[in-house]
Amino acid sequence: MFEIKDEDLAARIGRLKTPRGYLETPALLPVINPFKSEISINKIKEIGFKALITNAYILYRRDKEKLEKLGIHNYFGFDGIIMTDSGAYQMLRYGKVNISNNEIIEFQKLIGSDIAVILDTPTPINATREEAVNSVEETLRKAQEAIELIEDDDRLWTLPIQGGKYIELVESSAVRSRELLKYFNLIALGSPVEHLEEYDFSTVIKMIISAKKHLPRGKPLHLFGAGHPAFFALAIALGVDMFDSASYILYARDNRYMTPIGTERIERMKELPCSCPVCNSLNVNELIAFDRSKRTELIAVHNLYVIKNELNDIKNAIREGRLWEYIRIKAMSHPKLFEAFKQILQAIDIVEKYDPRTKGSERGIFLFDEFDLNRVEIRRYRRFLKDKLNYKILEKKNIVLFPAINRTKPFSISKRERLRISKMLNDKNFAVMYYLPYFGVIPENLVNVYPLSQNEFVINDNLIKEMMGFLEEYLKFISPIANSIYLIIY
Ligand SMILES: [Zn+2]
Repeated sequence: MFEIKDEDLAARIGRLKTPRGYLETPALLPVINPFKSEISINKIKEIGFKALITNAYILYRRDKEKLEKLGIHNYFGFDGIIMTDSGAYQMLRYGKVNISNNEIIEFQKLIGSDIAVILDTPTPINATREEAVNSVEETLRKAQEAIELIEDDDRLWTLPIQGGKYIELVESSAVRSRELLKYFNLIALGSPVEHLEEYDFSTVIKMIISAKKHLPRGKPLHLFGAGHPAFFALAIALGVDMFDSASYILYARDNRYMTPIGTERIERMKELPCSCPVCNSLNVNELIAFDRSKRTELIAVHNLYVIKNELNDIKNAIREGRLWEYIRIKAMSHPKLFEAFKQILQAIDIVEKYDPRTKGSERGIFLFDEFDLNRVEIRRYRRFLKDKLNYKILEKKNIVLFPAINRTKPFSISKRERLRISKMLNDKNFAVMYYLPYFGVIPENLVNVYPLSQNEFVINDNLIKEMMGFLEEYLKFISPIANSIYLIIY
């Protein structure tokens, strides 16, 4: 049902099988409101979106008969994948909905949704703990209740996870959902919208981590209502596979123009820094001069291109094994994203657990500062030094550690250096190691191993200090094996 094609960190490029063909993930499903839209579905399809999401509850309330007669694909005139949400968003906004779980499940089956959602109970941003507990319990109860209705159904059914800012509730919700997962094809993390509206990316990152660490690898994870392109890479790095959002149109109505790092108000801009068909053919003044509806359409088209291009950039980064560097760039685009990035560092164990050991391409890694000590390549190498490296060959040997910072890669010592040291030690077979920031120590026989030579780095005082601390520990660690250890400093 969900095939993983490529992986980097906890991110993956996947292929989700739906009744209307395959959906490549990570993907964003634009939210369609059939009763209010300045942009046509054909246009959205033309931009390259193969899947849409719409709200089954609104459709049920406003056009039930017609939908039941036509089916959802004919109703929308769209032959791609259609996901329907159940009304949780309305519950979040208005406190309640006038439909039962069973009714909305049957309706989604009847109209032919490809991906459907049970009627979950979202956790509002200002929920008390008791209310949050209630939303978790209610959602689990409805998931249980849904089983007999969805068991033999061919469409993909989504199990929402709630808890909101109460991270321990998100976690227990994920744990308790596991036993229900054999009946569901997707997992959706609910209630991030209000946090994202307030730029509280850190809370959403914490929510994703608490859910992800308990969920099986083989099920796609959907994040409800996340439409900030600058946030995609961070969420995807933690294993989010799908998003849905109306941000492209909501922002457009508000004259907000998306960029890969945020949004700008169109009236404050002088240039359009994009080469999508809209920005290619118009300048700012021409765009502003259109009437509201046409302007909204044009900005929405541009916003969708930004979303699509951002996802393509992220997919390239996953395929090339450079998602870590990509999320570092994104983290610098807003202090709140930087805070969220630091939150990821707190959960780097989980990211490392998902990260594949061998990447598709052996591209060199870039190391900038002490944050990069958290890179999985560095963490794994340092652990390898302590736990896996065979130290038998060093037994009773004289070990000489050379600084590597100013050497060219792959590291080596000159004949002259070798001669000088062997004379000094009166030993031709001394063992050579190199020391440097980030990796700590590299034995001579490993200098060609990826990524010990395939990297570019810069250093600073903190990294030197960290390296000295590492060396101190490491020398203690190998001193019982070695005959003697010499540290060359020059
Ligand atoms: Zn554009």
